[in-house]
Amino acid sequence: MAARQDTADRDLVAPATARPAARTTNEDVRQQNLSAVLQLVHGRGALSRSEIGAWTGLTRSTVTALVQELLDLQVVCETSVKPTGRAGRPSLGVAAEDRVVALSVSADPHAVSVALVGLGGAVHSRVRHDLAKPPNPRRFAQLTSSLVDGMRADIDRHYRLVGAGVAVPGLVDSGGTVLLSPSLGWRRENLAHRLADAIGMEVTVGNDTSVGAMAETRFGVGRDVDNVLYLSGSMNGIGGGLVLDGALVRGTSGFAGEFGHTVVNTSGALCSCGRRGCLQVEVHPAKVLALLGRRGLDEDELDIELGLVRDPVTLAEVARQVDVLSVALTNFVNAFAPQMVVLSGYLGVLLATSRERLSAAVRLHPVGAEGRTVRLERAHMRSHLMQIAPAELAFESLLSDPVSRAPRA
Ligand SMILES: [Zn+2]
Repeated sequence: MAARQDTADRDLVAPATARPAARTTNEDVRQQNLSAVLQLVHGRGALSRSEIGAWTGLTRSTVTALVQELLDLQVVCETSVKPTGRAGRPSLGVAAEDRVVALSVSADPHAVSVALVGLGGAVHSRVRHDLAKPPNPRRFAQLTSSLVDGMRADIDRHYRLVGAGVAVPGLVDSGGTVLLSPSLGWRRENLAHRLADAIGMEVTVGNDTSVGAMAETRFGVGRDVDNVLYLSGSMNGIGGGLVLDGALVRGTSGFAGEFGHTVVNTSGALCSCGRRGCLQVEVHPAKVLALLGRRGLDEDELDIELGLVRDPVTLAEVARQVDVLSVALTNFVNAFAPQMVVLSGYLGVLLATSRERLSAAVRLHPVGAEGRTVRLERAHMRSHLMQIAPAELAFESLLSDPVSRAPRA
């Protein structure tokens, strides 16, 4: 097949993950276009060939050839799609092949969970082992291995596996070593190696918030946005991910996105990093929960409680935290000029309770035009996100190079 780069309709707004290749060699262009088409149907679901052409700016004949090659690799399949806009007969479209799967593993202080996730984001099955105390790395690998063993017969019979992705709350380097995870109590642990040995497949490890940012921009509220700042808050602190021009910013050794350690009050409380007044100690659910007389509430419960609360002390503490958050967000928006800020977890709760106060503050202060157009959104995916997000780590190499990374049928 002779591949070439199309130049028609290049100004068409394409999603972050589906940008056709810049002009290099024909072979590079073909590979990058295959990747663009696969990423498009992976993130967006079934599409007709003409829709793929519209999203990518590629001609009909090029799309037909690329789709045929992806069908031959068995990473996409044919399916019927409804015509967009007006009524009519369903036409034959293309979807990600959901029998191509990855294991999605979450390392949490309270549980180890493993989900079997298909290309395209469908969760086929999920198992979970609850824990009374955080597991050490050896115990974590043993538990994961026994959960995976329970899925093995089903995988062998019905699916083609690309590998496993693991999300860890902590600092993870690009080689899969967990440098520090305060909530798990891990330090300098080469988790990618240990787990690959235990479960016998390629393992990719990432920080849970960065992985969440990637999934939220691929499947969630940030799906059609190229420049997104994602911030997530929990009892463990605040983490973030910055997606610029459709790619997650990793920084040196993969540590970019530690927005929680932005100092917002130099005379504030001491943070685990040794500084005072970091964002994650100034904006934290503990004080609000104490005022509500609660020990722990999930995101949905906290939404309800804060919607009903009339106690002025609690309301003042929420307002203080919202104001601190707005100062930090204003700085981030000025620094990175995102189109959208996505707030997840506890920060999503603060946005829901105080949307006007927060968006007014962020809109008022930024420099330039970006501040007037930046959208503040609450993360869409909630708990479903962490089931599918780690699998994205394992799909990454297949999505960027379908020809050499497609699992054998
Ligand atoms: Zn800090």
